[in-house]
Amino acid sequence: MEKEAKRVLETVRREKISFIRLQFTDIFGIPKNVEIPARQLEGVLEGGIAFDGSSIEGFVRISESDMYLKPDPATFAIHPWSLDGEDGRTARILCDVVRPDGSPFEGDPRYVLKRAVAEAQREGVTMYAGAEAEFFLFRRDPNGTPCLELHDKGGYFDLDPLDRGEEARKAIVEALEKMGFDVEAAHHEVAPSQHEIDFRYSDALRTADNIVTFKYVVKRIALRYGLHATFMPKPIAGINGSGMHTHLSLFRDGKNAFYDPEAPYNLSEVARGFLAGIIEHIGAITALANPLINSYKRLVPGYEAPVNISWARINRSALIRVPASNTPETSTRMELRSPDPSANPYLLYAAVLMSGLDGIRRGLTPPEPVEENIYELSEHERLEREIATLPGDLGEALEALERDEVVRQALGEHVLERYLTAKRRELQEYRVAVSPWEIERYLEVY
Ligand code: GLU
Ligand code: MG
Repeated sequence: MEKEAKRVLETVRREKISFIRLQFTDIFGIPKNVEIPARQLEGVLEGGIAFDGSSIEGFVRISESDMYLKPDPATFAIHPWSLDGEDGRTARILCDVVRPDGSPFEGDPRYVLKRAVAEAQREGVTMYAGAEAEFFLFRRDPNGTPCLELHDKGGYFDLDPLDRGEEARKAIVEALEKMGFDVEAAHHEVAPSQHEIDFRYSDALRTADNIVTFKYVVKRIALRYGLHATFMPKPIAGINGSGMHTHLSLFRDGKNAFYDPEAPYNLSEVARGFLAGIIEHIGAITALANPLINSYKRLVPGYEAPVNISWARINRSALIRVPASNTPETSTRMELRSPDPSANPYLLYAAVLMSGLDGIRRGLTPPEPVEENIYELSEHERLEREIATLPGDLGEALEALERDEVVRQALGEHVLERYLTAKRRELQEYRVAVSPWEIERYLEVY
């Protein structure tokens, strides 16, 4: 047994952990788990555990449903709240999904990202990613059902101990730190009841794992405070939605390959190719970065979310920002501002990485940066400067995905097909639903 696995077993014994949750995600990034008593762990670390893959969204049909979970011991973490007596003493391990013969299952999003990471590594580069996931905290009604009642009236960086939201956020940060996160900042966001917690960037796989854990911890701790945390992109019309700004860089031989002190904006050839690749494939990326019907209600002018396909240094209305840094050798990076926290980070990162690599391989050139506030440019000015817009709704984004060879390949046929089918079903359901807006607008007038 490898060293890491032994260390896990020792910790489980020492900390008297009773249950282990073996975790993985479906193709939408929704975490799933199988729980085992701790005494089973040794066997599972060695041989994996069988489960029925046919009951997981986007996995397989009944006839080929035998799947195995193979724990990745490097991801072991104790649930800190369980040490306070909540829920028994539990820990979790993230798992890879494999077929009975041990080969990786191509429908496992974690595998999709691993495959992309391996391809990048063959070209000598590693992608690092950082995530700024925003979320709302809503109250629950007396039955515990989440409602849209805001828990505060706070705004950006407000300091006051406004209410339970502040307390909850502090407890969330504590829990994350205990689970090995390096939290860099936590603050109130622009909208009332909206928050952001930033943790340190890491390689793409680790950050994707972290995002899944992050969302779970935020929800879990919020519940303790009688609140409901949601990563829904635009829960309330008329105020900011929640984004998940994604910081990206490539390293080669331990050096930041995006950095060139001689070049404008310090952006190397590699960085420019990567940037151009993302812009080239942004339509398809959007189907993953903004996967819900609701995602497109965030991507509208006026709420700090991008609408136009452009890049810039300072301009926050841009799709991609190249933040200034006082340590450019290491931290030259780009910030993709369109993703929202409902994205499956594994699929998103795989798509972004393969798109960026495509731009580098083909030597694509990015358009000129646009430093003005694009919301204030006229239609004519935008056309003249050839500034295109992001897909306006999920249907458009899915069409772009279907047409995009590079992103299709990043996902693989298995995931692609199931993703498109499930998302088109969702669109169809939405199309026939009658919304409160329609009733309000039409019922009496017509
Ligand atoms: N909430 C904004 C969004 O939807 C982002 C605000 C910010 O710049 O942090 O992307
Ligand atoms: Mg923010």
